[in-house]
Amino acid sequence: MAESTYWNPKIETLERPQLEALQLAKLRRQIAWAKERSPWYRRALADIEPESLRSLDDLRTLPMLTREQWMDSQFTHPPYGELPTIGGAGAIRVHTTSGTTGKGPLRALDSRKDWAWIAEMWAYGIWGCGVRPGDTAYIAFGYGSFIGFWGLHYSMEKIGVLNVPGGAQTTEARVRQIVDFGATVVASTPTYALRLAQEADALGIDLRGSAVSRIILSGEPAGSIPQTKALIEEQWGAKAFDTAGMTEIGTIMVFECEHQPGGTHIIEDHVIEEVIDPATLAPVEYGQRGERVVTSFGRGAIPLLRYRTGDLVCKVPASTCQCGRVFDIYEGGILGRVDDMKIIRGTNVYPRAIEAIVREYSEVDEFQTVITREGVRDEITLRVELKGDAASDWDELSGTLHRRLAQAHEGLNFRIERAGAGELPRFELKAKRTIDKREAPIGAPS
Ligand SMILES: [Zn+2]
Repeated sequence: MAESTYWNPKIETLERPQLEALQLAKLRRQIAWAKERSPWYRRALADIEPESLRSLDDLRTLPMLTREQWMDSQFTHPPYGELPTIGGAGAIRVHTTSGTTGKGPLRALDSRKDWAWIAEMWAYGIWGCGVRPGDTAYIAFGYGSFIGFWGLHYSMEKIGVLNVPGGAQTTEARVRQIVDFGATVVASTPTYALRLAQEADALGIDLRGSAVSRIILSGEPAGSIPQTKALIEEQWGAKAFDTAGMTEIGTIMVFECEHQPGGTHIIEDHVIEEVIDPATLAPVEYGQRGERVVTSFGRGAIPLLRYRTGDLVCKVPASTCQCGRVFDIYEGGILGRVDDMKIIRGTNVYPRAIEAIVREYSEVDEFQTVITREGVRDEITLRVELKGDAASDWDELSGTLHRRLAQAHEGLNFRIERAGAGELPRFELKAKRTIDKREAPIGAPS
């Protein structure tokens, strides 16, 4: 029999009603498990009986969970809060969020069974983009408290791929290992994939001539920006595939298949992804933007029922892709954070839209957007660092960027500034290229 292009051929090609029946059965089971084992859910779901859910629409009778509630629970019941179904003694690992916002990092426990599930979820993604036994994977990742590519590592082992764990290395050492081991697959954040290419360039190493044929991206919305992906593919001479996950789930919940339909499939036999209007909490239709709310069936130690992620997405039907999967798609992947949007003199500005334009100009090495308040007037400045050997005419490039950014933002005037070589920060994880220096929005109470 010919090898399947699907990791789980039976499930990935179910009809929609069969998939939904499976989701409902798993949902009931997860509610029962959570009520029985988690102090948090015993209270939150006191009025909900698993068997009373007659259809997936009844999911909306369950309360939502927010990151703040999780944090507060950790604070009042340290160190893990009341969400987990097990204590530290029943778990084999704890990971934390990168902790860039809020009171501190979330702490997520996992059991041995959870880790098997985490790897299984990643396997849908890496198999779906064409990784096979016999590949050699280079994992450009720190292997620390942040969960990141830990699950990908185990999924590579599960499939039978040779792993090169690239933790605790300089970027130069990583580039050399990628070439020396003949890696065919590289896993990294989009930002770091570009950083590796920069370093290779500086070392006189031509990555296009290397064995790398696939780059697995995760960790930042930039992996789904077509211009950024195109740049990564051009610099590596390889195909780039977007995935996305989160510490709160423990693994990925979406991946891009080999057809690359301009979005990522949702692994719907393991998660239910609702898309809601963040203001009214009402569900939005296919094709409309909203906030992701995730219910996961796989993680036993921390059941996640209707968790508000803050991620901005736009769901479209599975039929948008020709691969035959039943799984719906997030068009353009994760579009950013619901609260990423900046308002400059009445105009909405999304970091993603700026990046999409800037990445079209390959002479740009790094960039940063700075928002300031001068008197009562807000200003937005794009700072641009050029490649060392870029022969481009700065006046022409800055004029072009100024014009294109204005066209994309209702005529908004962006200041364009040239930054010196090496002046702008480089990132390995969670790039932060937008700096908002305004103290408080105009009109906000002071
Ligand atoms: Zn597909």
